[in-house]
Amino acid sequence: MLLRFLFPPKCILCHKLLTDEETDLCHKCREDMPVAKREKRTFEFIAHWCAIWYYKDSVRDSIWRYKFGNLRCYAEPYARLLAMKLLDTSFLDGIDVITWAPVSFLRRFNRGYDQAELIAVALGKELGIPVKRLLKKQRHTRAQSTLNGASERKANIQGAYRAINIADIPGKNILLVDDVLTTGATSNECARILKTAGAESICLATVAVTTHSNQTKQNERR
Ligand SMILES: [Zn+2]
Repeated sequence: MLLRFLFPPKCILCHKLLTDEETDLCHKCREDMPVAKREKRTFEFIAHWCAIWYYKDSVRDSIWRYKFGNLRCYAEPYARLLAMKLLDTSFLDGIDVITWAPVSFLRRFNRGYDQAELIAVALGKELGIPVKRLLKKQRHTRAQSTLNGASERKANIQGAYRAINIADIPGKNILLVDDVLTTGATSNECARILKTAGAESICLATVAVTTHSNQTKQNERR
């Protein structure tokens, strides 16, 4: 109660104070949020994917606060909403383990946390599925936002990740977690590494997905 008084909870999208009846989102955002629809976009190494929202307006602001404003407490509400979204799909059946697309050591050191890891851990708790670190970002890459087009982004990310804890990968159906899905270059490369290490299938869950029109404009800073 004291905590609620000292740090009154705010809507994770519009950042307004919540009433006692509201959790995570205010009524208005819950009604109006840009829910991501199922799309036909496919990625070579990803069996299925889903996202909670489109990456725009208050969603973009929320993710920026989460990644760059130290609001790491958003991981839990994101995970709760993502769990609800995933439970609406069939591709959660048979998932053995949850992992995430990690940031580099340097980024984690500077930020103090890995945004995708926190969501993955919270999601594992929500769904009762084990969470395991299966990927390592072994080199710092240029921000994808500084690059034009899918082919440059793909080249930038190639060789950036490697599999770790490799005994836990063969035959597994893995749910990969990330914050934003843009061109899919990062997620697809992570999935390729996991498949090469023997994973049976990779599904992807993200907080937000860019629409085709803002794919090249959005800032994919990790
Ligand atoms: Zn709101």
